[in-house]
Amino acid sequence: MVVRLGGYARISLDRTGEELGVERQRHDYRQVAGVRPGWEVARDYIDNDVSAFKRNVVRPEFERLLVDLQSGVIDGVIAYDLDRLARQPRDLERLIDVFEDRPELVFCTVTNDIDLSTSDGRTMARVMVAFANKASADTGRRVARKHRELADAGKNGGGFAPFGWKDDRVTVDPVQAELITKAHDALLAGTRLATIVIEWQEKGIRTSRNTGKPITRVALKGILVNPRLAGYRAIKGQKHIGADGKPVMGIWEPICTPEKLDAVVAALEGVKTQYKAYNMSNNHKYLLSGILRCSECGTRMMANMRSSWKEGSKGSRFTYRCPAAQDGGCGKVSRAGEPLDQYIINLIHDAEARLKAPASEPTEWPGAARLVEVEQEISELISAMNGKRISAATAIAMLEPLEKERDELAYERDRNTIEQVKNSAATVELSEEFERLPIERQRAVVMKHIKAIVVRPAGRGARKFNPDLLELAWSA
Ligand SMILES: [Zn+2]
Repeated sequence: MVVRLGGYARISLDRTGEELGVERQRHDYRQVAGVRPGWEVARDYIDNDVSAFKRNVVRPEFERLLVDLQSGVIDGVIAYDLDRLARQPRDLERLIDVFEDRPELVFCTVTNDIDLSTSDGRTMARVMVAFANKASADTGRRVARKHRELADAGKNGGGFAPFGWKDDRVTVDPVQAELITKAHDALLAGTRLATIVIEWQEKGIRTSRNTGKPITRVALKGILVNPRLAGYRAIKGQKHIGADGKPVMGIWEPICTPEKLDAVVAALEGVKTQYKAYNMSNNHKYLLSGILRCSECGTRMMANMRSSWKEGSKGSRFTYRCPAAQDGGCGKVSRAGEPLDQYIINLIHDAEARLKAPASEPTEWPGAARLVEVEQEISELISAMNGKRISAATAIAMLEPLEKERDELAYERDRNTIEQVKNSAATVELSEEFERLPIERQRAVVMKHIKAIVVRPAGRGARKFNPDLLELAWSA
């Protein structure tokens, strides 16, 4: 009887030294299988460069091995050692489940460290994996604790010297510090961050990490608001708070005062607030927020969810409103959101369709009149023949080309019909495409065509959506 084994091998690049190459593992387990009568390695399951220790890492071949063991595609598993197969208790338990389900399965390792097909072996394996797991977790905790101790003492962590300091991470680098100071002053004077990014890029300034790429907006912002600049010890960009509840101060020379750093942070945050005030934010959740204008006061109208609206209830889910007086509007104009959105979406679809396919307007098929004529001639000929007004031979001779023309025209007409159906389907496709776009893209499409929509008051009791109360300012 042949025992068909699955050979499992794994290599992870995060550990060095004792790491066994996949080829070596495979060679070894195949050799062991080779000396056992009837054993053959039916398939190799090889996971490359994935750590069995890290949680939430999917090992596709390991998953497949479990399935194949469970379904009987293979009769057992052979690997170099238990460590290759499972370093997480969770993975081990899944493997053990399969072996408990199918006690006839064979288990073998090259180092002969464990046998999952026996109850004792399973207990041993659980202990081994638990220890391996704890050792790795301890290493992680040790590293974290070391970082914390350093931070509590206001000492430097590891890694690259931060921008602004020399390699000792204590002495200020005068050139870099001056760049930071100038950038701070520019920001406080109202220069946009984007402008400073371009300036630094043009000067060829690199981060300490120096990836060889131009400095990014994110990197520059990180440099300019680094708490370290004002002497604060920071972890991942945040001030580190000590046991006494106060920010821990570092042992290095500061580059600016805490007050200036706060001002810079506020200036950068302020940009967001400013955008908000002008409704320029790209965070709108409704299609026409800020695009609609109140006809009475000109204020941009915003959307509100209708508090009374529930799943299944009638009417629109939300309403566009002119803001109340305290928010800068007159509060006099509002409009149900959904029918208004739908009306504008339809207009946009038409506008898009005109842009995309100027010639594909549905037109009447030009052969229609001729087809009617030909069919008329044919029926006249047949009735003449039946009434013996002309001979059958003459009638048939005349009928033939007419019937051919009729068939050709009918074919052409059908082709034309299909084409038209396709065209209208394309329009449907366009609308489905629009629905799938994220809201900011939908808004961009609307704004491409329409600059603003002025909404006039609907008057009391006017329930039905009336497009006549809208004035559209189309983009040129
Ligand atoms: Zn208003």
